[in-house]
Amino acid sequence: MLTKTKAQITEKKQLNNDTVLIKLKTEQAIEFTAGQYLIIDIQKDGQIFKRLYSIASPDFQNKDFDLIIQLVEGGAGSEFFKNAKINQTVTVTGPAGHFILRKNNHNKVFLATGTGIAPIRSMLYSYILRQPEEKLELIWGMKNTESLYLIDELNNWQKQQPNFTYKLCLSRETSDNPACFRGHLQDYINQNKDKLISDTTDFYICGNRDMTEEVKNLLLKLGAKPNQIYFEKF
Ligand SMILES: Cc1cc2nc3c(=O)[nH]c(=O)nc-3n(C[C@H](O)[C@H](O)[C@H](O)COP(=O)(O)OP(=O)(O)OC[C@H]3O[C@@H](n4cnc5c(N)ncnc54)[C@H](O)[C@@H]3O)c2cc1C
Repeated sequence: MLTKTKAQITEKKQLNNDTVLIKLKTEQAIEFTAGQYLIIDIQKDGQIFKRLYSIASPDFQNKDFDLIIQLVEGGAGSEFFKNAKINQTVTVTGPAGHFILRKNNHNKVFLATGTGIAPIRSMLYSYILRQPEEKLELIWGMKNTESLYLIDELNNWQKQQPNFTYKLCLSRETSDNPACFRGHLQDYINQNKDKLISDTTDFYICGNRDMTEEVKNLLLKLGAKPNQIYFEKF
């Protein structure tokens, strides 16, 4: 069921040159499943624009929400969050969406680019604490080392949960960073297809429309079945 409630912006943190973390505290609780999103009313020039943002925080927090937002030039939501001040209120509605973890014992590969990490962070945050037995692997495509964020958190999860691993794919990195793959996420998938694709692995993809389509089609071409692939297109 959808809940419509007021929310206060309690924190705003710049994550890289065009991405912010926004923390919201809602008046009413919103029970959600990791992977779902909130609908935010953005007021601009006397009109209300609805913008969707995936919840990036764990599912056991039902009044405190993290959003990871890319600020695009001239966008209604982007301009709002670029100028937003602490304690400002917004109207949010949620939860919405079907991009959630399927209940099975399949290994899970999470494929994100940019802020596509948002729903996947919620899934990993919520799920890793439940000590799952299957293997969880995150492959995250970013531009370069300067664009990275959340790395301490990923390292902590890796220490905490030995079956969680992550790989960063940097498409525009110029220096040698041995911990990262240099290239696009699609290149990494192609080069590691034998390790990644199996009948008992599910894929959760999130990013912009083009990336999501390309990665989905690539996985199908490499032998994954349609019912092993779940995605959210931003
Ligand atoms: C289910 C769902 C969940 C989403 N979750 C998130 C999330 O967690 N984080 C997040 O950052 N976004 C998320 N999005 C995208 C978000 O809803 C907005 O579409 C996006 O932030 C742009 O909104 P805007 O109001 O700033 O720009 P708009 O007012 O929609 O667009 C303004 C201009 O910018 C262009 N534009 C729009 N997006 C981009 C882009 N990415 N790069 C370059 N130009 C662009 C448009 O073509 C237009 O010309 C999600 C989308 C969906 C469908």
